[in-house]
Amino acid sequence: MSFLDIFSKKKKVQSTPQEAPKHWVKCEKCTSLMYFKEVQNQFKVCPKCEYHMKLNAFERVLLLSDEDSFVEYDSSLAPTDPLKFVDKKSYKKRVLEAEEKTGRTSSVLSGECTIMGMPIQLVCFEFAFMGGSMGSVEGEKIVRAVNRSIEKKQPLVIVSTSGGARMQESTYALLQMSKTAAAIKKLSSYNIPYISVLTDPTMGGVSASFAWLGDIILAEPEALIGFAGQRVIKQTIGADLPEGFQKSEFLLEHGLIDMIVKRSKMKKTIYDLLSYFSSQEQINEPVAVEELQEEPVQVDDEQESIEEEVVQEDNQEEIKEEPKEEIKEEVKEQEVQEEPKELEEPFSEEEKKWKDFKLKLKK
Ligand SMILES: [Zn+2]
Repeated sequence: MSFLDIFSKKKKVQSTPQEAPKHWVKCEKCTSLMYFKEVQNQFKVCPKCEYHMKLNAFERVLLLSDEDSFVEYDSSLAPTDPLKFVDKKSYKKRVLEAEEKTGRTSSVLSGECTIMGMPIQLVCFEFAFMGGSMGSVEGEKIVRAVNRSIEKKQPLVIVSTSGGARMQESTYALLQMSKTAAAIKKLSSYNIPYISVLTDPTMGGVSASFAWLGDIILAEPEALIGFAGQRVIKQTIGADLPEGFQKSEFLLEHGLIDMIVKRSKMKKTIYDLLSYFSSQEQINEPVAVEELQEEPVQVDDEQESIEEEVVQEDNQEEIKEEPKEEIKEEVKEQEVQEEPKELEEPFSEEEKKWKDFKLKLKK
């Protein structure tokens, strides 16, 4: 046997990381090698050191929702490339690659499900889609989930795992911070609870907007949570930073989050918290009706711009024409008194819906 033969034999035994069998999973923290089913049965928590590995959006849904209860919304919303952005690759190419990799058109999976029998609106981020970054589609999906929460009087749960705003969309992505924050503010005026779950990692524009605005902010153990990266902060302030200052344990100690919850207890904890909120609503006085009238569920200007791609122009013309026809008919009939009645009706309907909701809660 020549030296070359040994070399070629060795080469055959060694496999590239891509070819390596996926039956074994290595823990990033304790480096233990475990059979993949053992890890998956525990929702990707290391059985030896309890390190919480990353879950994709669908695994999150499976973790939190009751079996077969999840219904996805807005799955067809896909990003456009308004700036024709090109860095090493074009933005369009990056989106296509992400779509192929994840089978999704955006980094947000949103929908409705039940959690131990309680209906909720659930939004989960997919980190594999461009680092879970937030662009105009992701912001829009969150706002729509908020609007559904208000319409259906259901609590909202958002599970974040994101690198922040999507730089390829520049200002369009940054705008989503204020857009989502404004939508979350609307929820509080309707007394609808919002639980934000921060997982590893939650950074940048996502942490600086809706993710920090939860009525209750939960985090997974040892999750990296912050705005800018450690290196950037160190360069900016020119000082050494405490070890682990962006880990959930440090943030809990300093009052930035409310609880650290292990993955195995996440579903039950969210259910318990939401049950507590609904029991409190029976005691609290309802929100003033005036407030509800001032903030009806409306589509934002930004939303309209995105919906324009979805909704055909014909529909918009129809909507614009409707009120004109109504006014013309009224002028012909000279029944001026009917106008205020029409205005009053939507408000009284809202009052009714609100009362029905209160009654349901009492039951
Ligand atoms: Zn481990």
